[in-house]
Amino acid sequence: MIAVALAALALVAPPKPHIVWKPIPYGPARRAEMAAYAKKHYGIDSYVLHPRAIVEHVTATDSFSSVWNTFAANEPDFELHELPGDCAHFVIDRDGTIYQLVPLNVMCRHTVGLNDVAIGIEHVGIDDAQVLHDAAQMRSSLELTLWLMWRYEIPLANVIGHNESLTSPLHKELYAPWRCQTHGDWLHADMVVYRAKLLALANRYRVRVGPTFRPRPSGC
Ligand SMILES: [Zn+2]
Repeated sequence: MIAVALAALALVAPPKPHIVWKPIPYGPARRAEMAAYAKKHYGIDSYVLHPRAIVEHVTATDSFSSVWNTFAANEPDFELHELPGDCAHFVIDRDGTIYQLVPLNVMCRHTVGLNDVAIGIEHVGIDDAQVLHDAAQMRSSLELTLWLMWRYEIPLANVIGHNESLTSPLHKELYAPWRCQTHGDWLHADMVVYRAKLLALANRYRVRVGPTFRPRPSGC
């Protein structure tokens, strides 16, 4: 596969950023709910994640604690009233602190159509522009994303914003009414800027990340 051939490679690992482990409850019941979700939406009867992509998000809130509480609560969604509730593997606070909430071999429900393959990274903030202009938050975000790319051999073409989800070649949604569902966080224009900064950091550490993301027509 081209993606594998172009996957992130380096002779020396980029530095692993400091990560604060702040797990949400994700026991056997929630794992079973995730497996049932994966079966319905992806045809996979498993909650186990083998990361192939990274999706960047913005919380549209102003505090880490409110995000953690929401993800920990495990509330069903408003539309189908399905469990598990939303979550993300990481949340990056405004001061640049990186929190990890969920192990990386467990799926999280953060992006319709991509939860079976993608690590989710949330940024505490109001919108993409605010995060892009927050130096501390961006430094942590880029360092974390690059380290994950190296760790899982994820090419730059598979680092996307939530709003780009429908145009990813990895997008898959078996539940027809949700096939065109996405969210407004991290628009393509902002991700172009984000990926350029990410590529610059990759070059600094001599990590080969392959060509950048090119949106494909979604038909939506
Ligand atoms: Zn999002």
